[in-house]
Amino acid sequence: MSGAQRNPCGTAAAVQESARVIRVAVPVPLDRLFDYSLPADSPTPVIGSRVQVPFSGRQLLGFCTAVNPPDAHGRLKAVNRVLDQDNFLGPQLWALGQWLADYYQYPLGEVLATLLPNAARSVRPLPATSSEHWQLTGTQPVTLTRARKQQQLLQRITDLGGHVSTAALLEEGYSKAVLKGLQAKGLIVRTTRPPLRSSMQGSVIPPTLNPEQQQALETLLAHRQGFAPTLLNGITGSGKTEVYLRLIEAVIAAGQQVLVLVPEIALTPQTLSRFEARFGTADVIHSGITDRARLVAWLKAQRGELNILIGTRSAVLTPFSNLGLIVVDEEHDASFKQQEGLRYSARDVAVKRAAMLKIPLLLGSATPSFESLHNATTGRYRMLNLTHRAGTAVLPEFHLLDLRGRNLDRGLADDLIRVMRRHLDTGNQVLVFLNRRGFAPALLCGHCSWRAECPSCERPLTMHRSPPALICHHCGRRERLTQSCPKCGHVDLIPVGQGTQRTEQVLIEHFPEIPVYRVDRDTIRSRARLEAQLAAIHEGKPAILIGTQMLAKGHHFPNVTLVAVLNADGGFLSPDFRAPERTAQLIIQVAGRAGRAERPGEVYIQTYQPENTLLTALLAQGYQGFAEQELISRKAQHLPPFYPIALLRCESGSADAAREWLLRAKSLLPTSVEAYGPAPCIIPRVADRLRFQILVLAEDRARLHAGLRQLKALPPTPANIRFAIDIDPYDTF
Ligand code: ADP
Ligand code: ZN
Ligand code: ZN
Repeated sequence: MSGAQRNPCGTAAAVQESARVIRVAVPVPLDRLFDYSLPADSPTPVIGSRVQVPFSGRQLLGFCTAVNPPDAHGRLKAVNRVLDQDNFLGPQLWALGQWLADYYQYPLGEVLATLLPNAARSVRPLPATSSEHWQLTGTQPVTLTRARKQQQLLQRITDLGGHVSTAALLEEGYSKAVLKGLQAKGLIVRTTRPPLRSSMQGSVIPPTLNPEQQQALETLLAHRQGFAPTLLNGITGSGKTEVYLRLIEAVIAAGQQVLVLVPEIALTPQTLSRFEARFGTADVIHSGITDRARLVAWLKAQRGELNILIGTRSAVLTPFSNLGLIVVDEEHDASFKQQEGLRYSARDVAVKRAAMLKIPLLLGSATPSFESLHNATTGRYRMLNLTHRAGTAVLPEFHLLDLRGRNLDRGLADDLIRVMRRHLDTGNQVLVFLNRRGFAPALLCGHCSWRAECPSCERPLTMHRSPPALICHHCGRRERLTQSCPKCGHVDLIPVGQGTQRTEQVLIEHFPEIPVYRVDRDTIRSRARLEAQLAAIHEGKPAILIGTQMLAKGHHFPNVTLVAVLNADGGFLSPDFRAPERTAQLIIQVAGRAGRAERPGEVYIQTYQPENTLLTALLAQGYQGFAEQELISRKAQHLPPFYPIALLRCESGSADAAREWLLRAKSLLPTSVEAYGPAPCIIPRVADRLRFQILVLAEDRARLHAGLRQLKALPPTPANIRFAIDIDPYDTF
């Protein structure tokens, strides 16, 4: 972070001898801090206090980073308001903020604003959170016979396992007076933190761990002190979640808090209900909750009023009073990487937090990221393997369906239809995976050369049928679905290729008596609909599930015995260096939905490239062998995880402006890093903006970061340009 600069705007008052000055991190895209004077009647902030300050004619909420800095100078504007007299984020999050700003090369003011829950961006007082609970003391009642209501309540608390929240009791119609009565007699005590409900009291009886799970759990329990990162590498359905649950129970029982990061909670209500069944209520943070609910969960974590917080990416930025463990489920998942603003990886931040707090960290996946596998190989992480499916389930068998020269009905091979029928006839369910939503990825005129194209991105518009529209999957632009060619007027428009809506229709034609459930971004907009669909699927009757990668994530469909992957080729042909890794993860994860209960499963993969070396390696050697082979090529190409990289991304309406800006950035980079570009991105244009990038490589992280720090000398980015530094980019689109 560069030093303070003179306040850039507006009228200013001279700093007097007696005036106090504070240095403020303001949420603006400028990599520097600003000094302000404190009015005489203002309370004195400390480092970390929220302060409201004037900036370019606006009032912004910033954070005080220094009081009376010795090098303050010039004429300063006055602080408008001091909101706190303590460090609002707390020392832990404050320290994390400094690290984030430095590691991701992002202005401190904007980092701190990202750490602040939306609902805490105003001057309103913070909500009360006290999640008041009551617990039996174990004292035997003597004189309750004449206090019938107290007796009833005591019985109710006993029935509930000896503890309950005030809110729950009030909802059941008990009054505060009766609670106070029991408290006065010493029969119950008040607690703020919900007591641990041990597994035996939950509404489910946990399974007995198999020997591999037991071994993994014992190792984890033996390393409960200090920074101990562990990769739980367990095939789909091997019982990883069961291991998390046992470990979490031990940590909570020791009085500590647990943070569980999951990719997408809305898609997997099952995950949440599993935690709830085991631990009673669990607090959640994800994009679907209100700002206020998020702030309440945030404050409860900070005040030590919750045991377990389950959340998506941003939950890793929550303060805790006594965090004892972080679990990252499906650690390979792309959704952990923020793709705009502060482009952090929640998994990597979790590792950093665990290291800062000196606590254990558990990363779990059936298809670990190459980064984590590499860290395990080099000894930075301990690796625990679960190689068998839990219970009696066995792994599915893989088949390749060579599509060359075969009869296809809108993307489905005859043979595949036959196999589907066999599974459905024997009372099972079938999952069909196609990673493209909509009806058809292109719409052409059969008469002239017209094709539906997004004018802002110059790419084909995807045809959607329900509701009818032409949609750009890059910029979101929507156009009316025309019946006739806008160019020549013929009504001969041809949808080309398959999306999930079209495949759904084909499947309904082939299997009119079988319900077909489609799960993709268009159908899961309604949470109620998703849950109704999942409930219907869980009834277990023969059914076909068709969907995108949303179907691959964490779901457990016990009656699915056949998984069909309609097109595996696209992913292995993409120029993105991570595409093979991502495609292999997707195939293995989708395949993992098959045969998770007693019935064995089969996986059919349709391909035009049955000899593709990546595909055959994956099927012959499994994910692990595939990863080892791919890692050799990553090393040869000087790519992550062996060499750290960053992308300098630039977008502008003018290609010249974008290119020139990148060249200017490149000229600042020292020779200790290699820089390639500027080159157009794989997707060169989105929403009328032309996209360019520079790839920066280095021998090691210290060199990469030292090199990128030179970019601080860049002047403020001009208004017609968007510029971002993406450290450890996930995709290179
Ligand atoms: P993963 O997280 O590895 O995909 P889960 O923990 O979800 O696996 O387990 C898959 C299924 O097996 C779940 O229904 C779970 O309840 C069950 N299960 C887990 N461990 C055992 C066990 N030791 N014995 C029997 N069933 C188990
Ligand atoms: Zn035409
Ligand atoms: Zn577009």
